[in-house]
Amino acid sequence: MDPEHPVVEPAVRLIPLGGLGEIGLNMMLVEFADELIAVDCGLMFPDADEMPGIDYVIPDFSYAIAKRDGFRAVFLTHGHEDHVGALPYLLREARVPVYGTPLTLGLLAEKLREHDLEDVELRVMRPRDRIEVGSFRVEPLRVTHSIADGIGLVIETPVGTIFHTGDFKLDPTPVDGEAPDYQRFEELGHQGVLVLCSDSTNVHRPGHTRSEADVGQALGERFVSAKGRIILSTFASHIHRIQHVLSLAARFDRKVAIVGMSLARNVRVAAELGYLHVPSDVLIPLEDLARLPADRQVILSTGSQGEPNSALSLMSAAEHKHVQIERGDLVILSARVIPGNERTVGRVINALYRLGAEVLYEDNAFVHVSGHASQEDLKTMLAVTRPRYLIPVHGEYRHLLGHARLAAQVGLPPERILLIEDGMGVEVTKTSARVIGKFPTGRLLVDGKGVGDIGAVVLRDRQILAEDGVIAVSLVVDRAGRIVAGPEIASRGFVYVRENESLLDELKSHVREALDARDPAEPIDREQLGALVRTTIRHFINQRFQRKPVVLPIVMEA
Ligand SMILES: [Zn+2]
Ligand SMILES: [Zn+2]
Repeated sequence: MDPEHPVVEPAVRLIPLGGLGEIGLNMMLVEFADELIAVDCGLMFPDADEMPGIDYVIPDFSYAIAKRDGFRAVFLTHGHEDHVGALPYLLREARVPVYGTPLTLGLLAEKLREHDLEDVELRVMRPRDRIEVGSFRVEPLRVTHSIADGIGLVIETPVGTIFHTGDFKLDPTPVDGEAPDYQRFEELGHQGVLVLCSDSTNVHRPGHTRSEADVGQALGERFVSAKGRIILSTFASHIHRIQHVLSLAARFDRKVAIVGMSLARNVRVAAELGYLHVPSDVLIPLEDLARLPADRQVILSTGSQGEPNSALSLMSAAEHKHVQIERGDLVILSARVIPGNERTVGRVINALYRLGAEVLYEDNAFVHVSGHASQEDLKTMLAVTRPRYLIPVHGEYRHLLGHARLAAQVGLPPERILLIEDGMGVEVTKTSARVIGKFPTGRLLVDGKGVGDIGAVVLRDRQILAEDGVIAVSLVVDRAGRIVAGPEIASRGFVYVRENESLLDELKSHVREALDARDPAEPIDREQLGALVRTTIRHFINQRFQRKPVVLPIVMEA
């Protein structure tokens, strides 16, 4: 080989823009030469304490946008928000076609309508379809998950085959009969998988993840023994769980009212597309349900995460317009508590108990199973697909690392396990893989209609406002800098002004003293005066209270 001109082997690059280093925000780019496709485009719900007022967080797409001309398509694995939720923001900047299974696109279409993006090209794909886009050939394969119609993606590239599992579990008895496509997994293993990107979410759980059918069974036992009304709350997207409830209601001669807009919308879409079988006459409006005896009523509701304005939360606070919780009610929280929501969920559970309801939730009853593969399932995926390289995906660093260790345990050589996070990439040839990077990544914060306009400074201010409040000081000065009106002081979240007159008087006199002390020969600079007011107040408050509220000086000239 000529060392001056080494033969460049063709290489495919995998670049995660989100989901590797956090739960949520999932998006992976697959790039060959000047073409690329994306797997998923999800969002993340932020921690309210870390990011006050932020609605959600989306990946930084700038790398993909910059390569817009070669950006061929987005392929969606399933309809969860952490896989599709950021699409409207991407599509505003790059109108690429979007591929998804019928239910995924059905749910997405509603979201796009809300964003006035009805003209986006949505292309339906079904398991085992073969879709050619540029240099890639993509084949969706059935996997099971906590939403119906989930798939993994086989992506054939000129370099080799990539298999991205999406979110998955290996459910031996799926509710809809759509089993994971073991046959194709095995065939892939024989043909050769260059890279496996596999879901790491549940890597810390030993054993196998239980079947959704087990939950159906367990819920059935509750229907047998319940003497009164049943109120069940689950994720609005959990079509199979909803199916259990509808079928059980029909079997035990109960009627179901749906409470919560997202739930009603998803039930409608899933039923229209044939993913949900609604037994005839089982669904009735809430007003009609209330006329039935308690032991014939089921309320299916949102709010399993204790969201403040959700139906369940309002019921627990006795503030729901149509539903009053009563002794004899059985409330089932058929969902996992997402980390960060423990306190709000706990508050709802306590309030429900206080109103006399019996409450079943993950800690005290078997009412939920996960949608993600546990250790033994992950090992099975590795054993069956026999990849040359593994990239653990979907998880915080601890999950990715745990998955890497698990793969090493079952014999994958360390150099074939690529532990990377968002913004790093992997370049793979037929015979080698190396970690590359840095790619621009980051998190864009969405607050109302603003995308990315909230930065670290604004967030920090919001945190301070939340912790220590704000004090506004307004005053009018003449040309010599003497105070002619004010200072007036207003405060929010610091002290209640009306009950602290003496404190305010003290603050005012400090401000006056500080201004009197300045050299009258100095020209007036409102900004300087403002800074002086701010330091004076902050110093005083910090000494007295050890707090650091935001101080807003408003200096006007007469
Ligand atoms: Zn998911
Ligand atoms: Zn996910």
